[in-house]
Amino acid sequence: MPTPQSILKDIFGYKEFRQYQHEVIDSVLQKNDTLVVMPTGGGKSICYQIPAMIFPGLTVVISPLISLMKDQVNQLNQIGIPAVVLNSSIPNQEYAENMRQVEQGTVKLLYVAPETLLLQRTQNLLQGVQLDCITVDEAHCISEWGHDFRPEYRQIAEVRRHFPQAVCIALTATATPRVQNDIKNSLNFPAGNEFIASFDRKNLLLQVVDKIDAMQQTLDFLNKHKGESGIIYCFSRNQVDETAALLQDYGFSALPYHAGMDAADRDKTQDKFLRDDVDIIVATVAFGMGINKSNVRFVVHYDLPKNIESYYQEIGRAGRDDLPAECLLFLGYGDIRKIRYFFKEKSDNERHIAETQLQALLRYTEYNDCRRKPLLNYFGQEYEKQNCGMCDNCCSDQKELQDFTIQAQKFLSCVKRTGEIFGALYIADVLRGSKNRRILNFRHNKLSTYDIGGELTKKQWGLLSNQLLRQGFLLRSEEANGGLRLTEKALPLLRSEEKFYAEMVEDYQAPRTSIRDIDISNYDRELFEELRKYRKRLAEEANLPPYVIFSDKSLVDMASLYPQSEAAFLMIHGVGAEKNKRHGMGFRQIIQRYCKSKGIEEKSTGHRRLKAQQRQKTPLKYMIIGEAFNQGTSIDQIAGHYNIQAQTVINHLVRYAREGNTVRHHNFSKDYPELDSLKEKIASAFAKHGDLRLGPVFAELGGSVSYELLNVFLLQNMVNAQEPA
Ligand code: ADP
Ligand code: ZN
Repeated sequence: MPTPQSILKDIFGYKEFRQYQHEVIDSVLQKNDTLVVMPTGGGKSICYQIPAMIFPGLTVVISPLISLMKDQVNQLNQIGIPAVVLNSSIPNQEYAENMRQVEQGTVKLLYVAPETLLLQRTQNLLQGVQLDCITVDEAHCISEWGHDFRPEYRQIAEVRRHFPQAVCIALTATATPRVQNDIKNSLNFPAGNEFIASFDRKNLLLQVVDKIDAMQQTLDFLNKHKGESGIIYCFSRNQVDETAALLQDYGFSALPYHAGMDAADRDKTQDKFLRDDVDIIVATVAFGMGINKSNVRFVVHYDLPKNIESYYQEIGRAGRDDLPAECLLFLGYGDIRKIRYFFKEKSDNERHIAETQLQALLRYTEYNDCRRKPLLNYFGQEYEKQNCGMCDNCCSDQKELQDFTIQAQKFLSCVKRTGEIFGALYIADVLRGSKNRRILNFRHNKLSTYDIGGELTKKQWGLLSNQLLRQGFLLRSEEANGGLRLTEKALPLLRSEEKFYAEMVEDYQAPRTSIRDIDISNYDRELFEELRKYRKRLAEEANLPPYVIFSDKSLVDMASLYPQSEAAFLMIHGVGAEKNKRHGMGFRQIIQRYCKSKGIEEKSTGHRRLKAQQRQKTPLKYMIIGEAFNQGTSIDQIAGHYNIQAQTVINHLVRYAREGNTVRHHNFSKDYPELDSLKEKIASAFAKHGDLRLGPVFAELGGSVSYELLNVFLLQNMVNAQEPA
């Protein structure tokens, strides 16, 4: 009798379950109705595919995405699992044949569109077989609160009643509790039986850069991604067409995709992308719903996305194969105006919601610490690590900061004098003495701040404004449609009691820790290319997308371990018994030939571990902060310099000390006078729970001592325990 574990390994070729997959599978096998919430690319499919292999009868999978169903069935067939599709896009003869296979009990999984499920003949078909499991994929379609409501989904509950013996599993990537409750209520699920995975997609490198010359910045970015698959999202159809044409002119393999094209063209474009016949799709958000392509290596937001939820969905299409992928967002303040312009057509209530969502997105883009924190917070989850190593902020080295105090004062006072209702570009115009009509109409040419800012270009004033916003000297006021307003923090700066440092970088620069250095630099590119060509040939012969044969991750694994024996090949990610039988010989022959000509030997999987240890050589923020502290800089100074909270500085120092670095002797009670009286209490809580995790200690103390102070305590202890210098 196969177990979930053995199926995972022998059939799917994966080594271990991801978070909650095993628990979900067990729950379904025990015939408990189960709700699964996992991010896009999180691995929802095997949660119902593995039970389907174990149940004696049939599993029905309801899915609204016709193109995705076909793709899933292809992938299942490739690993030897019998599965078929019924939906309106299937030719008659094939439809009848698929019905027959279900009737005879030769398939394990049946994928149906919701409207197909509701047909009487489908109902009759299902009545005649043993139905063990009803899977509701994209289950948020059941909820009117979701972004993709489908009325037919509402009727699934009714269908269920006719199959009381079948367990139900509902899956979605929508994290909002309201939608989750809607799903459970509509399907009559018992309370509690739900598994909500972390929404952190570890392999996505998150970056936000100021939009200066977006086209040039994009070209710089793409030059680092030659030959890789990626998506560029634009706001408008025009922008899509223009950008795609320009990229083609520059010799990139790129095609446009938007709702203004006819359906056949769109399908053709999508298909080319899936088959690796075109590298880059430039698209409006219309693109991506039905995309299950695993080797998307980058997603660029050429314009601002609408809100965090869509941003998250869109970047989620990158890196489904678990290999690192780069997500780049251009933050252009002009775009904010464009987005707001469309709010004008909405009702008051809708506009309010849209504005709130936009503000949350802007807070994310302007965030100075790990980007995973605000992102996960938006979905109601906490990000616990201090440094993810995979976002621009966590990777950023000490930046080249210059003193821009005078310019900041000019800018802030001009904001003040124009009434705190204008955007950055208008302020820049006033400062630079522009004679445009708006300025003359408002008589802003009479202000003392008129024409005093010729030392910076308009673009540079824009950048300065971004940094003032980011460092909290300005905010965008909701009442004034996003016009700039001074915060309390601005006053000391205006009175010259404080200085303002900023960086003035005008071209796109990748974060120092670019993905290439982190993870996959060590595979053999030449062999990878040979394997890729071979995969492409097989895919064309079988009329399938290449990733259905093997994912990029499998090829990278082959090109770093050089498996030549069958045993070694079976250890490769994504290689199960069936794929080994179908393709093992062919791929091994290529590897053998390659290794022979180069005198290379097969590597053991131990190699993989070593490689992981060698990662991340670039200095991380905690190192820089640790060193700054050791040079005598105070915690407050460091916090001010990096615009982070003191608490974060402490966290960095704890990590610095934990990794064996010496921290300069210092009495932290000076910064935290409350520490002394609490010391004993804290010490006994740590004695009880150990110091690896703070949660239990925090709980032990009934929440009366902040995490910050607990970390200070730890830090002080580590410092005291050091050899005297
Ligand atoms: P979702 O439906 O949640 O968007 P999928 O089920 O398509 O995600 O899975 C995303 C990718 O992760 C697929 O390529 C899948 O084969 C792979 N995957 C799923 N589970 C595992 C696992 N336990 N180990 C390795 N890869 C996995
Ligand atoms: Zn981070």
